[in-house]
This record gives sequence, C-alpha cells and structure tokens, in this order.
Amino acid sequence: MAPSTRVSTAVLVRQGPSTETAILARLRPGDRAALLGEISGWYIVELVDGTRGYVSKAWTVVRSEAGTEALAQNDYKVHVIDVGTGLAVFVEGPGFALLYDAGSQDDLHEGDENRVVAYIKAARPGLTRIDHLILSHPHKDHLQLMPGVFERFQIGHVWDSGRVNKTDGYCHFLKAAMAEPGVEYHDAIAANMTRNVTFSGSGCNGTVTVRESAMMDAGPVRLGAGASMSFLYRDPRNHPDPNGNSVVVRLDLGARRILLAGDAEGGGRELPSEPPQSSSIEAKLLACCAADLKSDVLVVGHHGSLTSSRSAFLDAVGASVYAISSGPYPYRRVRLPDAEIVAELERRGQVLRTDRDDLYRIEDEARSCELNARKIGSDADEAPGGCNNILITVERNGSVGAAYNDAVD
Ligand SMILES: [Zn+2]
Ligand SMILES: [Zn+2]
Repeated sequence: MAPSTRVSTAVLVRQGPSTETAILARLRPGDRAALLGEISGWYIVELVDGTRGYVSKAWTVVRSEAGTEALAQNDYKVHVIDVGTGLAVFVEGPGFALLYDAGSQDDLHEGDENRVVAYIKAARPGLTRIDHLILSHPHKDHLQLMPGVFERFQIGHVWDSGRVNKTDGYCHFLKAAMAEPGVEYHDAIAANMTRNVTFSGSGCNGTVTVRESAMMDAGPVRLGAGASMSFLYRDPRNHPDPNGNSVVVRLDLGARRILLAGDAEGGGRELPSEPPQSSSIEAKLLACCAADLKSDVLVVGHHGSLTSSRSAFLDAVGASVYAISSGPYPYRRVRLPDAEIVAELERRGQVLRTDRDDLYRIEDEARSCELNARKIGSDADEAPGGCNNILITVERNGSVGAAYNDAVD
C-alpha cells in the first residue's frame, strides 16, 4: 500500500473504517504499508512498526513491486496434518512457523519417521526453526509425536496449558521442552517461577523442573508480518478429563481468523441443538467472549465428536471452512467424527476430513494411498494417516482456499 499520487502531505491511518475514529499514524508520500485486507471504502494495513489501521481507498493505491510470485510467498498456510487418529496443525507465514499439537494414537514412529516431522519436511524443506509450539492438552493423540519435533527443529516458545498428565508421553514432552536450548516455556499457571513435576512411569520417570517464562494469558502474541495469536481459553486448574484444559487459540492471519479448538467440549455426547453445559469450555467461551470466537476457519473440537460443536458455539464462530482431524482409533468405543456433527457442519460450509481415505487404505487398491506412494511418513506400515492432509491458504488479499494437499515425502 502506498499513498496515491494525489496525496501531497499524508494519508491518515485510522483505528476503524470511519473518519470518526482516532488517527493512529500518517502515511506520507514514499511510505509503504502491508495490505492485510479490505472492507467497503477502506483498506486494512500494517505499518512497518507493526501498527494496524484503516486507510481510505480514495487516497491509496495497491502496489506489487516484487511481482505476483513474491506476493504469493507472503500467503499464510494452515496445514492440518493427517496423523491418523489425533491432531497436528502446522501454520506458516512471513517470518514465522507454528505447530499446534503433534499427536497420534496409531502413528508411533520416532524422529524423522513420524508423520508430523515427515510432513513439515516435505511442505517446508530447509525449515530449521518452529517459533511457537503449542500443546492444547496432555493427551497422547495430541503429543505422541512431539519428541521427534524437538529433535528435528529448534523450538522458540512452548505454550502448554500446565495441566499435568502422569503419562510417559507427557513426561517425554516436558523433558524435551526443558532440554531445548534457549526455549521459553509458558503455561497458564504462573510467570517466572519454577515447579517440579515427578513422573514414575516405566518408560519415562524422574523429576522435571519446569522453568516458566511469561505467563500464557489472553494475548495477542505477535507471530510475524500481519499475524498474531490469542489464547481465548486457558485454565491452569486440573480438570478430571484433560480435555477440559484444552487451550483454544485464535490465529489472526491478515484479515482472516482461524480457530483451533483442540479437544474443547460442550458437554456429554448430545446433538448439536442441545445448549452447551455451563461448566464446559464452549459455554465459558460463549459467556466471556462470544464475539472473539468469530472466525473464517474452524479446526473442529474433539475430532468431530458429539461432545463438542454445539450449534450455539458454531453460530458464534460462523466459519465457512471446517477441518476435522480424526482416524479409525475409537475414543471410548466411538469412532470419530460423529455423523450428526459432520451433517451439521456440512450445512454451514465446506468440510474437510483427514480420515477421508482411511476406509480405502488397504481394501481398494486404486484409492489406497498406501499403495500409490502418496503417503506422508512411513509408507507401507499399514497404519492409518499420511493420506489426507488438509491445506488452507489465506492470501494477503483475504481470500481463503481449502483443499486436500497431495504432498509427497
Ligand atoms: Zn484428542
Ligand atoms: Zn483429548
């Protein structure tokens, strides 16, 4: 963005899309700003110092000095990685890389062999650093593949609810986080303190001293050019079921919002038309900050289970794209997603699922990605996952695209 040639002094950068709102800065001839999006009569811009505001379209022009290819590289990408039964979301944009969860019930490969590491290597060859690693809650299907991520990449910040689960998997995760050179660890418990967590499992045990940096609060945390994340829900108290500790994160990528719900629930297994139970994360979010939920894309809570995605919650989110990460491993004897949730989401927008081809894994040779070398990670391991990776692209002009990504490793 730059002032048009008609401008002699400066274009006013305003707080909102109206001349009634406060002036935040002035864009003078020769100055430039990044274009984040647009609404009627106004462009949304970010100045070089990070200030965001609105400029009148009448006094500004859009420039593409670096050409369209360079602009395309400024897009944001949200990858919902097919880890089998579990969740892993890799997000990249100008100047940052982020990973929200890395777990699986059925991919137990370590190091470079695990599907999260294999996928990131295929999608972003040469990437050495993940700036932000978030663990939504300490369940195996969200953390099993984390140690390989610490081995393969340098990690800048770890964001953890702080909910302790005395399992080998969480023990491995916490030890890897504390052993990471230069890492800053954040939880919702306290700031700049240390606490000891003792594990007594057969595969991982001993006392881990957790060193906390700044506390995980609502945010926002700046990610890179035009991008930030906000922790809409974080709770340090131990819920009996760790799903109740799921960290719900909203990513603001340019003018678009992506909501990552982890295993946040609305209550027991009920139809979406039922209101969420008052003690549930969905109910608490609706009560505290319903407007903050408004998003363009929802990575659906709890693998598309009837425990989550109540209509009232989905109404507040109002997304047009829904990504479900699931696989054949049953949760409390139920294979997710539930058909009623899929139907509800399909009424609201585009639905993509990481379990799309799971049934064709072996049975149908033509559709089996296992037999067609399109599988990410270990190929002929007869384990689900690796076939239906979802790629959501947010372009700088605000357009959102969602499709399956036939990445090859
Ligand atoms: Zn889960
Ligand atoms: Zn869970």
